[in-house]
Amino acid sequence: MTEDLTTFDRDHIWHPYNAIGTDLPVFPVVSAEGVRLRLADGRELIDGMASWWCAIHGYNHPQMNRALEGQLGRMAHVMFGGLTHPPAVELGRQLVEITPPSLEVVFFADSGSVSMEAALKMAVQYWHARGEKRQRFLTVRGGYHGDTFGAMSVCDPVNGMHTLFSDMLPKHLFADAPPAGFERPSTDADLASLRGHLEAQGREIAAVVMEPIVQGAGGMRFHAPGYLRRVRELCDEFGVLLVLDEIATGFGRTGRLFACEHAGIEPDILALGKALTGGYMTLAALLTSRHLAHTIGQGEPGLFMHGPTFMANPLACAAAAASIRLLLESPWRQRVAAIEQGLKQGLAPCADWPQVKEVRVLGAIGVVELHQPVDMAVIQPRFVENGVWVRPFGRLVYLMPPFVMSPEDLAALTAGVVKTLDEVL
Ligand SMILES: *Cc1c(COP(=O)(O)O)cnc(C)c1O
Repeated sequence: MTEDLTTFDRDHIWHPYNAIGTDLPVFPVVSAEGVRLRLADGRELIDGMASWWCAIHGYNHPQMNRALEGQLGRMAHVMFGGLTHPPAVELGRQLVEITPPSLEVVFFADSGSVSMEAALKMAVQYWHARGEKRQRFLTVRGGYHGDTFGAMSVCDPVNGMHTLFSDMLPKHLFADAPPAGFERPSTDADLASLRGHLEAQGREIAAVVMEPIVQGAGGMRFHAPGYLRRVRELCDEFGVLLVLDEIATGFGRTGRLFACEHAGIEPDILALGKALTGGYMTLAALLTSRHLAHTIGQGEPGLFMHGPTFMANPLACAAAAASIRLLLESPWRQRVAAIEQGLKQGLAPCADWPQVKEVRVLGAIGVVELHQPVDMAVIQPRFVENGVWVRPFGRLVYLMPPFVMSPEDLAALTAGVVKTLDEVL
């Protein structure tokens, strides 16, 4: 059976950032429970990835399952044009409640990338309604915002995985990457490049777009709250909007419910996704202020011009509402703090290896940055043989475990990573 699965898969099914017909292994998973993935051959792996930031409560969670089963018995889906439903309203209420106070209006989208498309359109429509043509965005290098064209256009122009398409993309403005280091004291000099762009082209710029505190798929780099605070000040000084992409950082991952809380600032538009549904379904949300929403409503055409078919899918909204309830009822702060300690201790042994550039940890995110890219064909099966699920990219071996991971499992996970690196480096 396993053979069948993997053979058909290899010849017919595309995987993320992958090719058809390669010999790179893919491992069939048949079920998952708590922090463990069970492979078709019966082996169990401790999950170090939370399925790319999403599965914060682990897998097959009874409360999450009940919420979805309940909603399934009422309706799986209904269109959102002209209709509303309890899961959307409940989730909307929760999001307005837990995000920064100025964010009071919600737009639901199907995925993180699509929400970023909508965020860019929202910013452009805001300025249009105010009689200004502002269609450029300013962002920082090292960012990642998704794989659709609008999102790609604000990803890092060099390592953002999209250089192939760069001639087709709208030309936005790129400032220097935020200086690395969560603890680093920030100075005005750190913002010189952003300021330069705002001084030169501020009247054309609709918004500054960035990931706060942690740049994820663009390099797993951390920056200081003081830097982010200054970005907010700069946006206010030049009168441009600030769009924060918290698709990866939202829902506690960095130690705060939202990463912008580290800096005590509020964006004009906030994008959420990934852990929004606890890893059960795809869903994303934008939050913005009444001012911004009303301005769009008062301009031409008086409507926000976006509306996906599966907007506010009831099953996805029910999953998200249950996930947020579960998160807020749980001791998530202590759990994330304990994971932070466990990652620091567990990854420390490889910090001074010559092949390792840096080990860094923030909240429930642990990163081992190497000097050379890993060989996926070699390292991926080694991780599996050592009982852990870890999916590196390039020079980055990183962990973002489910928040419910026990100290023992976390110690086994980090030991599996260190052992694997020791074997392959
Ligand atoms: C994953 C991610 C996205 C894209 O979300 P998808 O759901 O994969 O489309 C956008 N921004 C950030 C910061 C992300 O981590």
